[in-house]
Amino acid sequence: MTMTRLTTFAASLIVITLTSLSGAAQAETERLSVVASFSIIGDFARIIGGDAVEVRTLVGPDSDAHVYEPRPADAIALARADVVLVNGLAFEGFLQRLVDASGTSARIAALSDGIEIVHDPEGGHYHFSGGQAIFHAAPDDPHAWQSVASARVYVENIARVFCEADAEGCAAYEANAAGYLGELTKLDEEIRRAVAAIPEDRRVAVVAHNAFRYFERDYGVSFLAPQGVSTESEASAADVASLIREIREKRASAVFAENIADARLVEQIASEAGLSLGGTLYSDALSPPDGPAPGYVEMMRHNVETLTRAMTGG
Ligand SMILES: [Zn+2]
Ligand SMILES: [Zn+2]
Repeated sequence: MTMTRLTTFAASLIVITLTSLSGAAQAETERLSVVASFSIIGDFARIIGGDAVEVRTLVGPDSDAHVYEPRPADAIALARADVVLVNGLAFEGFLQRLVDASGTSARIAALSDGIEIVHDPEGGHYHFSGGQAIFHAAPDDPHAWQSVASARVYVENIARVFCEADAEGCAAYEANAAGYLGELTKLDEEIRRAVAAIPEDRRVAVVAHNAFRYFERDYGVSFLAPQGVSTESEASAADVASLIREIREKRASAVFAENIADARLVEQIASEAGLSLGGTLYSDALSPPDGPAPGYVEMMRHNVETLTRAMTGG
């Protein structure tokens, strides 16, 4: 990285940082500087990049990228980056502002490029936060990582972008990607076997924010989620009554909390529907390192185990 790539916005702050660098840190400036928008992409980037890259993740474990407010340190990270990896499909609502503020000249790669997109029939989905329903307009559903087939595309895109940015490291990136794609093949088979063991009439689940349409398409577990209501004076902004009718009609078998959201709404839904809470699914973020989903493979495994346990148990 050279100073010419820095904007005046960040330059003064960077100078302070650079002058305080130790010898060891200076040696590391040879590494490819990568910014990942959220934790799942950060995991992929570390696996494909290995020791040759330095990865900084903006939206961390258990955090919701939809409502993320960037900090000044994020703009500095973008200004210094060689490569910025994002999901795309209108997932990172904060991204454009941050790119503009940073003046970064880094390559910004949307990893969902080339996946088979699930189109949202409603034109988007709802988030429920602080008693309010927030409609996230995203006609192309952004939660593609919930399909292992799309995760493979993310991994291939990362390897290609890293190779373009660092030709010397390319062979290693490709080898790391090939190894990981092998793991993803096994993971995909494992999920299919696990879902096949759930009785067909029990494969309907309920969540608060529908991040699982890609999982539904690939693996055949259906997900129901509440819609928002416009009257803000309601105790809850979620249209729980119509969801309860749908739960009964479609004979949903379990309700799940999500790691990025408050569980109160799903607790209310479960109690009104007479269903039990089946545990916590990881939707839009990994867990911290000591949690059950510190990486993508562990996350998908945890989710399928949680679904299977709740849907076969009752
Ligand atoms: Zn959203
Ligand atoms: Zn989401």
